[in-house]
Amino acid sequence: GRCVVAVDGPSGSGKSTVSRRLAAGIDARYLDTGAMYRAVTWAVLRSGVDLTDAESVAKVAAEADLRIGTDPQGYGVTVDGVSVDREIRGPEVTAAVSAVAAVPAVRALLVARQRELIEQAGRIVVEGRDIGPVVAPDADLKVYLTASAEARAQRRSAEDATDVAATAADLARRDRLDSTRKADPLQQAADAVVLDTTELGIDEVVDRLRSLLTE
Ligand code: C5P
Repeated sequence: GRCVVAVDGPSGSGKSTVSRRLAAGIDARYLDTGAMYRAVTWAVLRSGVDLTDAESVAKVAAEADLRIGTDPQGYGVTVDGVSVDREIRGPEVTAAVSAVAAVPAVRALLVARQRELIEQAGRIVVEGRDIGPVVAPDADLKVYLTASAEARAQRRSAEDATDVAATAADLARRDRLDSTRKADPLQQAADAVVLDTTELGIDEVVDRLRSLLTE
């Protein structure tokens, strides 16, 4: 049946791995909303418009044909028919994404697309920064994952093979931008279950979420 799970939290909190495994385990679709902000950022960088020009950034976002799959075992992201799966994880996109995600018109556009994808799927795990509070306020389960700054930096640098200090600095910068922006800042939904994953393994977190769903 219909089941929407909202998973929010800062980068490195374990959101992506946990959300994908949970989705596969409960036979649900999976939506990575961060990949959507990253894909729009890729389109903005390609266009050459000034990142601080909100109107031009919004125009590029509105005109880009963004498609994203929802298969938890592997989803593709395309912009105007170009596959951007690798590019959206690169340092250029990562450095620019928080600025693009702060533009209210970009958020309005992507939130509307995300709601359509959720509606289509019916049974889906959605991860991001504003899913419980904004995108899916009527979700069946809202989760907010956290972890110590050290643990988050260590996980991220293990994933992308950059050094821990540089990763820690980048995460701190993005956390600050994401939680202080005016439009839908990163925040906990009042009704979210908060899980600190610093000392927990992925499977433990997934098991806890599964038991919350069947309660
Ligand atoms: O999750 P990920 O690190 O891929 O997200 C990249 C960026 O996209 C975040 O740092 C944030 O600026 C933005 N984002 C957002 N709202 C979401 C998901 C991501 O603002 N729901």
